[in-house]
Amino acid sequence: SETADQGIIDSEDRFGAHHYERIAMVARRAKGCWIYDQNNNRYLDCLAAYSAANPGHHHPVIAKAVMDAVQGGYASVLSNVVYTDALGIFLKKMGQFAPQMAPRFGNNGNKVLPKNGGVESVETAIKAMRYYGYKQKGIKDGHQEIIVFNNNFHGRTISVVSFSTSEKYRQGFGPLTPGFVSVPFGDIQAVERAINKNTCGILVEPIQGEGGIRIPPKGFLAGLRKVCDDKNLLLVCDEIQVGLGRTGRRFCFEHDNIVPDGVILGKALSGGLVPLSVFITNAHIMDLVFSKGSDGSTFGGYPLACVAGTAGLKVFEDEALDRRSRKKGDILKQRILTIAHASPHVKEVRGKGLFIGIEVKNGNAMAFCRQLLDLGIIVNDSHGHTIRISPPLVINDQELDFLVERLERVLVG
Ligand code: PLP
Repeated sequence: SETADQGIIDSEDRFGAHHYERIAMVARRAKGCWIYDQNNNRYLDCLAAYSAANPGHHHPVIAKAVMDAVQGGYASVLSNVVYTDALGIFLKKMGQFAPQMAPRFGNNGNKVLPKNGGVESVETAIKAMRYYGYKQKGIKDGHQEIIVFNNNFHGRTISVVSFSTSEKYRQGFGPLTPGFVSVPFGDIQAVERAINKNTCGILVEPIQGEGGIRIPPKGFLAGLRKVCDDKNLLLVCDEIQVGLGRTGRRFCFEHDNIVPDGVILGKALSGGLVPLSVFITNAHIMDLVFSKGSDGSTFGGYPLACVAGTAGLKVFEDEALDRRSRKKGDILKQRILTIAHASPHVKEVRGKGLFIGIEVKNGNAMAFCRQLLDLGIIVNDSHGHTIRISPPLVINDQELDFLVERLERVLVG
């Protein structure tokens, strides 16, 4: 009932930090592409927890793996002083799932360092780039610099918000972490100008998710690849939001036919059931930059997360989620372009695979998201001006029709 829902809202309001703007919907359960409220009204989830629900909510294979682990007494965190087969199995599968990172260092295979939330693996990547600069390039410790991009989003720790270009994420949280230089996204010349003797790496989102579904000019990643090869820098792609099939490829960097030196994944890795993120790089680099005691995490790589991660990767492969995303995404984008053509509100449509942004002329995407909620669709804005369409990759044709029909009603009338 509405009173019960109001009680839940009031309770969060009273006892929780107000660090999120929420929509007025109290979720009770979720299955596949749908989220249900307590009256069993269902909403098509076209946000998918910012890509964490790529395989659909409560995917039966991943949910079973998690339940079996708990019931079998093989789930809780064990001290990192012991070996577990869950970790070994996951690391092997994960390392082999990615192409050989940083092939210029040799065909050594990949190594994987697991953490929990995505931002922790961003921090791991930053440490790796800095240590590489120190150890391999002879940069004086404390002077390492990493190039990042305007409108980036990599998470919320102090170091990571230190190089955000969004004032709201940083203001009042100083002192901030030095050692980052931000340049315009998509501008290779600006990258070249920013490089100096202390530069150790480049951290990039192949498509900026929170930045408004911003797709860089074709060849941008290839340009970064070349700069990093020429100047001996590490190129790390943050694929937390765009990896694992979201843009129609296993990895988003494949669109530019490159292989980076390191990649960060999170969110969808465990099907959204357990927090799990990873930093993956060439074995040579991983062994160079991390030694015993130089990094660690109580829950990083604990059995439950590894079991969920292994199941998540298996589901990705068995269901060819990248191909699905590409096929359904192409169809959806065409249909959205038709709507945009007839709409007085749409400025631009951008996207790859099932990652589509609809930028609105009045800059107030949230107003359209609220109307869509009333019609049974959960979406939110990206960067204020863009409606972000990123449903689970298992969305079917009927569900696509449901979405398109409502987008048309809201955007065309
Ligand atoms: N990097 C990117 C590209 C993201 O989209 C996000 C989350 O939205 C993060 C990092 C941070 O991940 P988490 O919120 O799991 O720490």
